Amino acid sequence: MSVTQEATQGVIPAQLLKGQKALVTGGNSGIGRATAIGLGRAGADVVVNYVAGREQAEQVVEEISGFGVRAAAYEADVSQENQVVAMIERMTQEFGTIDILVANAGLQRDAPLTEMTMAQWQKVLDVNLTGQFLCAREAAKEFLRRGVVPEVSRAAGKIICMSSVHQLIPWAGHVNYAASKGGVQMMMETLAQELAPHRIRVNAIAPGAIRTPINRSAWDTPNAEKDLLQLIPYGRVGDPEDIARAAVGLASDLMDYVVGATLYVDGGMTLFPGFATGG
Ligand code: NAD
Repeated sequence: MSVTQEATQGVIPAQLLKGQKALVTGGNSGIGRATAIGLGRAGADVVVNYVAGREQAEQVVEEISGFGVRAAAYEADVSQENQVVAMIERMTQEFGTIDILVANAGLQRDAPLTEMTMAQWQKVLDVNLTGQFLCAREAAKEFLRRGVVPEVSRAAGKIICMSSVHQLIPWAGHVNYAASKGGVQMMMETLAQELAPHRIRVNAIAPGAIRTPINRSAWDTPNAEKDLLQLIPYGRVGDPEDIARAAVGLASDLMDYVVGATLYVDGGMTLFPGFATGG
């Protein structure tokens, strides 16, 4: 049994998302991988999007198939309009429709302001913000076409944007990343307002420090982890499964009245821990 299977077994109800079709972008690594597996455990059929690392994506598909649901790996670069359009089209053809989008794919290209190249700025905005816009737009078209199917879900569709605590906390040396996540917040809230009358729920998850390849240097030595823990009142670095469980809940009808919310899943990182003893 994999770490993700252990961390979600008995916690995620097996039938919670039965009959729903989910797409997770960047589903072959870290948070996306755990979320794709979590959705599969909850009974959803899952498309695992990847841009590189086909083997990892196939492994995730294999794990999800073990839950007796359907899964497939689709290659697409979320920052490319034609590839996103083709991906959602293929999913509606092969899976019948889409009920849940987890717009998770993201990356960092860090540099101090005066050294940041246009390419670094643009790449991060293209993937983290434009990528989420494109996936949300194409998924919403299908949600609107199909409408509510009451046996499947109370909502016509659910979009979960993977944001970050850095939609709130400024982050020196990462202006492209922080700006992209600030953009995700206002994009998510605007889409939530625009789509709610159609019974489409748009929400976001803002993870704190989660142990994945994106931030390895922040936790992979004892000293780095000690420094990081100063920022986390709950006293542990997060695991991808912490985000997976939140995503499954948010995607389900348990949270049907949650619209336009950002769920901070951060062990209290956004509680300004420096003020616990200072200020
Ligand atoms: P990760 O590097 O393990 O995963 C990122 C995934 O996105 C990878 O599968 C990568 O291939 C994919 N990706 C990158 N560019 C893509 C593109 N153009 N098209 C399709 N897929 C692409 O990192 P992660 O920590 O799992 O990150 C997932 C999301 O969570 C990101 O949006 C990240 O900003 C966010 N996040 C992570 C943390 C954390 O502490 N790990 C904290 C806050 C937010």
